[in-house]
Amino acid sequence: MNTIDWKNLSFSYMKTDYNVRCYYRDGKWGELEVSSSESIDIHIAATGLHYGQESFEGLKAFRGKDGKIRLFRVEENAKRMLNSADGILMAKVSEELFVEACIKAIKLNLRFVPPYESGAALYVRPLLFGSGPKIGVSPADEYLFMVFVMPVGPYFKEGFKPTNMMVSRDFDRAAPLGTGRYKVGGNYAASLQAGNLAHLKGYSAVLYLDSKEKKYIDECGPANFFGIKNNTYITPESDSILPSITNKCLSQLAQDMGLKTERRKVPFEELETFEEAGACGTAAVISPIGRIDDIDTGKSYEFSTDGKPGKISEKLYNRLRAIQYGDEPDPYGWVTIVE
Ligand SMILES: *Cc1c(COP(=O)(O)O)cnc(C)c1O
Repeated sequence: MNTIDWKNLSFSYMKTDYNVRCYYRDGKWGELEVSSSESIDIHIAATGLHYGQESFEGLKAFRGKDGKIRLFRVEENAKRMLNSADGILMAKVSEELFVEACIKAIKLNLRFVPPYESGAALYVRPLLFGSGPKIGVSPADEYLFMVFVMPVGPYFKEGFKPTNMMVSRDFDRAAPLGTGRYKVGGNYAASLQAGNLAHLKGYSAVLYLDSKEKKYIDECGPANFFGIKNNTYITPESDSILPSITNKCLSQLAQDMGLKTERRKVPFEELETFEEAGACGTAAVISPIGRIDDIDTGKSYEFSTDGKPGKISEKLYNRLRAIQYGDEPDPYGWVTIVE
């Protein structure tokens, strides 16, 4: 049975054969279990449901020209989930357990790893949440860690091209000393209103300003922001930004290409001076930004007038994709060969 239309996959849920689960009870993690069910049995008073004690990860596996399956930077995702667990007082999933669970979930669903030619990938979604009951606000005593996978299409079906984003001071995604730096569901709930408004107005995402002063560039929808000018790759420093692994990779690759890199506060007015701008994350690698409209002042910032991404963004994108698919060497050991 192989009726998947690899060329027309989107980023949406698809049932695959198996998922893996691990339960934390009585102060310790149990064995990794394999399930073919899409459902979980969950306590009605689970903290994950009531108090947002939940975090997730997202990473991808790619089938290369050589037929090998490469999982990208899984150790970094493992570390980030450890950090999220720390941030909202959940039981910690060790790096070993995290990596083992991801690899197992991929190996159990090999027939869903898209072929090289399709430009698609297998998206891996680890999830950790408080599954034990509490009705007073406190961390749960029991946790469920699970990993499921699904094939997803290339983000840019009509090719790698810029989209427009909006800025509004009417919304915050995360508080300066809140949970913005952790990959937790609560941040996403907090971003739905703004995201919905952006989509209604025809924008692909919201560029958030820092919540306290509304002076600095913060997170870019569900992605990190970067700008390029004077041969420099610049990305904002902020306590409420989720540290994107893609952003770290791009910063390294930019250095390899001879660019300078800066991670610092980026004043909103500086937007005017960037030659290229983009959002980065696992889903798209880079979403080049064509224009940013400040819907409060009516001012616009234009980065692409010909509908094409900037030269440096395109180079970075191609270089990272080449490492992910195994077309080019992996000098930093970013890739784990699954099989
Ligand atoms: C996951 C995520 C990103 C991107 O991180 P990657 O590791 O590059 O996929 C950026 N911002 C937010 C808010 C995220 O949740």
